Amino acid sequence: MNQLIRCLNCDEIFLKTPYDQSPEYKYVPTHPSEPVRSIERDDFQDFLIKHRRHPLEYLEIIEDSFISEKVYSEPVKIAYFKATNGKESFVIKKFRERIDEPLKYELIPGDYSLKCLGIEIQSEEITKQLRMEFKKPPFSPTQISAFPKLYRRIVGTVDTKNLERVSEESSHALEIYYKMDDVSLFYLLRNCRNLFKGKEYSNIEEFINRHKDDGVLLLKARYKIQITERAKTRKAAISAVVVAEAKKMIKKE
Ligand SMILES: [Zn+2]
Repeated sequence: MNQLIRCLNCDEIFLKTPYDQSPEYKYVPTHPSEPVRSIERDDFQDFLIKHRRHPLEYLEIIEDSFISEKVYSEPVKIAYFKATNGKESFVIKKFRERIDEPLKYELIPGDYSLKCLGIEIQSEEITKQLRMEFKKPPFSPTQISAFPKLYRRIVGTVDTKNLERVSEESSHALEIYYKMDDVSLFYLLRNCRNLFKGKEYSNIEEFINRHKDDGVLLLKARYKIQITERAKTRKAAISAVVVAEAKKMIKKE
């Protein structure tokens, strides 16, 4: 299991992984007795030396709190996870600037939450799917371009709180797919009656039923990671107040 260790004096952290014990990382030809050494183990010793006589504590990593800003497969990205010492919460920022650099961890006292930036429909995919499924008899170009516009207008005001999340994992952690709610479905069908007549209407109704639960009619919500940082220590908080007071006094003069 990974162990997260924090220096209370410096607010620096070290993530100790099981690989610290695994001597398979670095080939060191100058040490014939020990030709292969683990880089991580040396890093941990460096950490212990640097923070000698400083109070250290273990932080517990909060399960399932890992989130990253970019597509999972991209190697250079910023990721966050949560940890706690039992009393306070922390956000750990994990990043590397270049692919060949080791990962860095930064401790941020506080918490993160996800803020919804908006809900989108999959407009292009819907148009493509309509064209593909209804070649014969075709919908008119006006109908094909009007349908996504109608759908966007209807779901424009829904709140993700009222939507059911689709369990399939998106390749992007900050994009989440939802099913449209029953109220939206009702209005969509009702409005389609003005746009599609007779057989066309039953075609579009079937199309909606086919694609609302796992197809192109899923709604895509974009999220942003919002970090709420608290003042690092009492000392830092006090000095921030002092600075603010000093600024006020300067203004008055
Ligand atoms: Zn320290």
